[in-house]
Amino acid sequence: MKISMISEHASPLAALGGVDAGGQNVHVAALSEALAKRGHRVTVYTRRDATELPSRVKVGRRLEVVHVEAGPACHIPKDELLPFIGELADGIARDWGARPPDVVHGHFWMSGLAALDAARREDAGYCVPVVQTFHALGTVKRRHQGLEDTSPPERRWLEPGVARSADRIIATCSDEVFELKSMGIKTGKVSIAPCGVDLGLFSAEGSADPKPRSYRILSVGRLVPRKGVDLVIRALPLLSDAGFGDVELLIVGGGGDSRALHTDPEVRRLLDLAAELGVSDRISLQGQVPRAAMPGIFRSADAVVCAPWYEPFGIVPLEAMACGVPVVAAAVGGLRDTVVDHNTGLHVPPRDPEAIASALALLLGDSALRAELGAAGQQRAGSRYSWDRVAAETEKAYQLAAAGMSADRVSMEGAAL
Ligand code: UDP
Repeated sequence: MKISMISEHASPLAALGGVDAGGQNVHVAALSEALAKRGHRVTVYTRRDATELPSRVKVGRRLEVVHVEAGPACHIPKDELLPFIGELADGIARDWGARPPDVVHGHFWMSGLAALDAARREDAGYCVPVVQTFHALGTVKRRHQGLEDTSPPERRWLEPGVARSADRIIATCSDEVFELKSMGIKTGKVSIAPCGVDLGLFSAEGSADPKPRSYRILSVGRLVPRKGVDLVIRALPLLSDAGFGDVELLIVGGGGDSRALHTDPEVRRLLDLAAELGVSDRISLQGQVPRAAMPGIFRSADAVVCAPWYEPFGIVPLEAMACGVPVVAAAVGGLRDTVVDHNTGLHVPPRDPEAIASALALLLGDSALRAELGAAGQQRAGSRYSWDRVAAETEKAYQLAAAGMSADRVSMEGAAL
C-alpha cells in the first residue's frame, strides 16, 4: 500500500521528553518503519517547526518524512496549532498531486482534520480512506484537567466530528473503546492496535548504568503535571518510614539541556516539593535522554513507576517490561492492558502516594518478586507488543477502511442506478 501518515505536532525525527514530544513521536516513527519493512511505501507528513529542516528526509528505502509549511517555522505548542491545519492539509494535498495514497492515517485529532480535508476534496477526483488514531481524547483530558486543559474550545466538537467522519478508528487500548462508545461512536468501526516497543533496543540483556544508592526508582516521560511525578516524590518519605531510605528517584525527561531544565516551571515545582518533604538528596533530574541511552537506564532500575492521572496508552511501562523491570502503574487507561497486576507489576489507584509507597516497599523488599515480575513483563512485551505485530494489526484496519469505502461506493452507485 501507499500510506500517508499525518502527525502534525509529533515528528518522528524530534528529540523526546519535551512537553509535546513523547509517545506519539515514538509511535509514528516505529509504526511507519515497521509498515515500510512489511513492504508498504510510507510518507509521514509533519509541520515544519524549524527553518533549517529540509522539505523531505529519506529515512529508509520505502520511508520518508515530509516537513509541510503550515504556520511559522518555529516551535508552537500543540494546543495553538489549529489555525494552521488547513494549510497543512493544502500542503499534503499538493504533495499528493494526482497520485493520492491508498490510505491516510491521522495521528491526534488535528491530524485527523487535516487527513479528512486532504482526502475528500471535491475538485480532486479522488476520495482516500481515512484511518484515525487519537492518542488522547479531549473528553478524557477535560475530565482530568478541568480548567487547566489548554486545548482550543473547538476540540469539543471537531474531535467527535473526526471520529464520526473517519472510515476507521484505531484505539490503542480497551479503555479508549469505551470512551469512544460514550461519545456515540459505533464500536463496529473501531479496531484495537496497541502501541509497541522496540524489542531490538529495549531488552534485559546488556549493561546497566551504575546507581548511586541501594535502590533506584525510575520515572520516565514528559514533565507535565498529569504524569504524576509529584506523587512519586510524595511516596519517598513514606518509603523511608517503611525502612527504604537509601533510595534514589531518577527522573528522566523534561526541559532540554540541564540549563533549560532548571528554568522549567514543572521542574521548579517538583524540586520545591522535594525540599519541603526533606527528600531533595534522593531525587536526580536527568533532563531529556536520547533513545539509545534509555535501555541502560531502565536496566539500572529496581522498579519503574508510572503514576499518571490518566494515560491514553503509555509506552514507558512496555519499555520497562521489555528490559525485565517490574512496573508500579496507576490502574488507568492503557496501563490496565499493558501491566498485569501481580504478574508484570503492581497496580495502584491513581493519585495515591501511600499506595505507590506500599507497592514500592513490597518490590524493594523482595528481590525474588522483582525478578519474577520482571521476567513475566519481558515475556509479555516480547510476545504481544512487537512493532511488527502492531503494524500487522494496523494493516488490517487499513484494509477494513479501504473495503468499507469500496462497499460505500458500490451502494452509492447502486442507489444512483
Ligand atoms: N523518552 C525518551 N527520552 C526522554 C523522555 C522520554 O526517549 O528523555 C521516551 C520514552 O522512552 C517513551 C516516550 O518518550 O518511549 C514517552 O512515551 P509515553 O507513551 O510513555 O508517554 P507520552 O509522552 O505519550 O505521554
